Amino acid sequence: MPEVLEVESYRQLAERVVGATIVRGWADAYAAKKLPSPSSWARAVKNLTVTATSRRGKLLLIETSGVTLGMRFGMTGVLLIDQDAGIDGLFYGPHSYKAQWVRAGLEFADGRKLVLHDPRRLARCEIDPDLSGLGPDALSLTRKEFTQIVRIGRGEGPAIKARLLDQSVVAGVGNLLGDEILFRAGIDPRTPTALLSSDQRNRLYSAFTRTMRTLQRRGGSHLGEHMEGRFPGGHCPLDGGAMLSSAVGGRTTYWCSTHQQ
Ligand SMILES: [Zn+2]
Repeated sequence: MPEVLEVESYRQLAERVVGATIVRGWADAYAAKKLPSPSSWARAVKNLTVTATSRRGKLLLIETSGVTLGMRFGMTGVLLIDQDAGIDGLFYGPHSYKAQWVRAGLEFADGRKLVLHDPRRLARCEIDPDLSGLGPDALSLTRKEFTQIVRIGRGEGPAIKARLLDQSVVAGVGNLLGDEILFRAGIDPRTPTALLSSDQRNRLYSAFTRTMRTLQRRGGSHLGEHMEGRFPGGHCPLDGGAMLSSAVGGRTTYWCSTHQQ
């Protein structure tokens, strides 16, 4: 599933069309689900020139001479420009591209095509997307922004894993990054957020930023240390402890029974 690191690589790919003018756009009924109709996309994008790209969490933003175009990638969405994919292959996604799975696209005056490829049909196109519900971006999270993640007004708060996945708190962390951050921090993902000790909070921030840097360099969310033990009956690659698994924050979560307390 595309998380912040994958969408950042899509953004870098989309940089190639900065300066190009859109002559035609299209979106199918799935990609246009958040728009009034598929034709809204086609009408909105015509004759716009791409001026810049940006991103907030898993939301790609293509700035133009008119509206801002947004793309969300759901479970299996990949951005392609002509034959180049923004990523080699997603962990849960297909490793081949088929015309029938292209949901939306932009065609430029120079003949190039940018397309959204998505077998699972959960990717979405947006026009002037609303960013107000999204927390700070995970890839550039500052210490000050991190305090928002661990600050809970009252009560114990949600499990820390659920808190990390809450896009309104921090934008971009998905299931694999969430598990990798907690694995590196040595924290049980079920720990209520407000019950983290100050030592755990420090380890969490350091593991968070280290995970982002390391996995971005390696090339994706699926290249973390905990992945080696991420299967039923798996063992921790650090200490050989049994890896446990259950749903936390609505997602299948893996953690080490020995070093994640
Ligand atoms: Zn372990």
